[in-house]
Amino acid sequence: MKTKAYAALSAQSPLAPYTIDRRAIGLQDVAIDILYCGVCHSDLHTARGEWGGVKFPCVPGHEIVGRVREVGNGVQDHKIGDIVGVGCMVDSCRQCHSCDEGLEQYCESPLGFAGTYNGHLRGGDANTYGGYSAAIVVDRHFVLKVSHRADQLAAVAPLLCAGITTWSPLRHWGVGPGKKVGIVGIGGLGHMGVKLAAALGAHVVALTTSETKRQAALDLGAHEVVISTDPDQMAKCTTQLDFILNTVAAPHSLDAYLTLLKRDGAMVLVGVPPQPHPSPMVFNLIGQRRSLAGSLIGGIAETQEMLDFCAKHDIVSTIEMIKMSEINEAYDRMIKSDVKYRFVIDMASL
Ligand code: NAP
Ligand code: ZN
Ligand code: ZN
Repeated sequence: MKTKAYAALSAQSPLAPYTIDRRAIGLQDVAIDILYCGVCHSDLHTARGEWGGVKFPCVPGHEIVGRVREVGNGVQDHKIGDIVGVGCMVDSCRQCHSCDEGLEQYCESPLGFAGTYNGHLRGGDANTYGGYSAAIVVDRHFVLKVSHRADQLAAVAPLLCAGITTWSPLRHWGVGPGKKVGIVGIGGLGHMGVKLAAALGAHVVALTTSETKRQAALDLGAHEVVISTDPDQMAKCTTQLDFILNTVAAPHSLDAYLTLLKRDGAMVLVGVPPQPHPSPMVFNLIGQRRSLAGSLIGGIAETQEMLDFCAKHDIVSTIEMIKMSEINEAYDRMIKSDVKYRFVIDMASL
């Protein structure tokens, strides 16, 4: 079906109106009219070719909330009219060990999981198109149930990537009461990291390069704020933290943060800068038996768990709504860390 969208035709071209073709629904498919789509820094990295390997035209967007328009005959768990979400994945092999464990993001098949955009479907589209579009057709397994209030739906959209990408490592590393947790970079991911870590009962320290975000970080739920460019403030935090979630989208020195960890503490990287970070000092790792690790989005079951937790605890993203036509300006502001804290596109503006 012909569907309105916004696409980048090359890494150099701004996003512009474009018409895509959505497949007819199959037995297991859900057709969704998209209401809102969040704007992730990964959309920008991809559309501008910063990570390489991009198939153009590129239609980004993997923080999707919409209403079910049609379901295939084999779909029992979603009904016409339901409010649903789609995150970063639309397919995986569903046979490997990781898929069996509900960790589809680590699918071990040669194709791996299929990204919602710039992904490859098994036996189907060689280039998937994401949520900067009027509608999407997705296999039921990758469709999430949204139980937030109707007036919260725009602010729910960012939970589908920023929410799950911070939730998954916070849970995996046992963040909760009695843990002192640093969140580095108070952008789309980081502000969700602050909200979720606080809701899980941890003591949260927001680490930001932006003095202007100090009060806002406290309002988001941080118990302390450290301006990471101020060596005195950083020094006071040395060996204080159990865990750090680093969401920064640009290469930077990891040593300044590693030294904040206690013995046996861990820093998990979720930010994916286009160029590598300078290598950390090995002494900063061995000295206190610290770990440096990474984490990729989250599985479908844990995404549902996170959405349900957020609905129960009244947690949504803090957003700035934009029209589809404002997307290129939004990207430029995101590079300047000038977003409070996630742009969400109102798809009615498409
Ligand atoms: P974002 O909204 O742009 O936030 C990034 C934040 O990092 C900025 O707001 C800023 O916070 C801080 N920052 C930026 N440049 C910095 C620098 N040079 N030094 C120190 N801090 C800097 O981006 P996002 O959407 O949260 O995404 C963050 C990164 O995660 C991106 O690379 C994205 O591709 C990646 N990502 C990864 C996954 C995954 O599965 N691992 C999933 C989604 C996104 P302050 O102003 O507070 O310093
Ligand atoms: Zn994302
Ligand atoms: Zn698999």
